[in-house]
Amino acid sequence: MFNEIRLYIKAIIAFIMSIISIFTMGAAGTPTTPTPEEQEYKQIKNVIYLIGDGMGPLHLEKTKQERDITLTMDTFPYQGRSMTRSLSSSVTDSAAGGTALATGTRTYNGAIGVYMDDPVRAESHPKNLAELCLENGMMTGIVTTDKTSGATPATFSAHTYSRSNTKAISTQQLASGYDLIWGGTTDYVTQSDAEANGFTLIKTYDEMMALQPGTRSFAQFDNATWHLEQVDADTPTLEQMTMKAVDLLDDTDEGFFLMVEGAHIDKNSHANNDEGMTEALEEFDRTIAAVLAYAEADGETLVVITADHETGGIVLNEDGTYSFTKGDHSDADVPVLVYGSDTIIENGEVLNNYEIPIRIAYSLGFTAEQFPFAVTEEWASSETA
Ligand SMILES: [Zn+2]
Repeated sequence: MFNEIRLYIKAIIAFIMSIISIFTMGAAGTPTTPTPEEQEYKQIKNVIYLIGDGMGPLHLEKTKQERDITLTMDTFPYQGRSMTRSLSSSVTDSAAGGTALATGTRTYNGAIGVYMDDPVRAESHPKNLAELCLENGMMTGIVTTDKTSGATPATFSAHTYSRSNTKAISTQQLASGYDLIWGGTTDYVTQSDAEANGFTLIKTYDEMMALQPGTRSFAQFDNATWHLEQVDADTPTLEQMTMKAVDLLDDTDEGFFLMVEGAHIDKNSHANNDEGMTEALEEFDRTIAAVLAYAEADGETLVVITADHETGGIVLNEDGTYSFTKGDHSDADVPVLVYGSDTIIENGEVLNNYEIPIRIAYSLGFTAEQFPFAVTEEWASSETA
């Protein structure tokens, strides 16, 4: 609550300062230097929201140690943590975790963008960030190394009571109006479905690279897009998908919203596969390095990295190594790493997961009326597990 008040106060100060600067400009005939307050409340135009599925803080440490690399993620200027619990359990799944990160609303495990108290009738549902941006004229995209109907991309593009409703998820994605939805193949997106909804269906790296701005596209790649190198000529890496998506979305004055998921950090953590997890995390970080270089050059892009939950219960051993302790999710807090705005998190701050999209919406200049969220303090703290 304190932080929301703080953000409002910053917004009011920035507004007053902008009025004053208009008058002083008019009087003096020359632009004035921005005040510290104005600089602090820098308006963001584009958002790139990267979700490392299952990525806890020790996933980063394990990867650095075992692959003998440094991570671009460690260089982000604002670093805090997120508490990931869902409303139905202290240990969330990717559906409830993604719903919190997409909509600012906590719900039950398995839910895709629906409220806890009205999942089946769906008389209303919380708006997600991509929908908010789309209805305000921004370009919108989703990139994942999971199937396009996977839980995380689904929470940014669909509303249904169960993550296993993959046909409903795909149908809603096709009707979404987004500019691009790219990921692994599902059974429910055909050429004619895509065309009927104004999408160009692409299946290969060459088809992706040939896309021109102004073309809406739905990608159904081979499910091997997460490796450090292309596994074959047809299959892009996460980094290649992400940077082509940025290139296509950076096409209007209104800006863009792009969600990027590194799904195989989670999948390999379930399997306690050290090699696979660290490879997936290195590829996720290499994608982040490319995104950061874009954001630094662009100057109006917010980059937020987080995870929906931790997977594998990684611990630090007495000998200084890191190992998995379970094959499932844990309730550990996850990293929140930010570049481009100081309004999302302060260094060392611990947030609830559902606060992240609300703060992103504010940083884009949206109001609480434009991005209503239903979670209350009582709901957030309720123990229903
Ligand atoms: Zn998982």
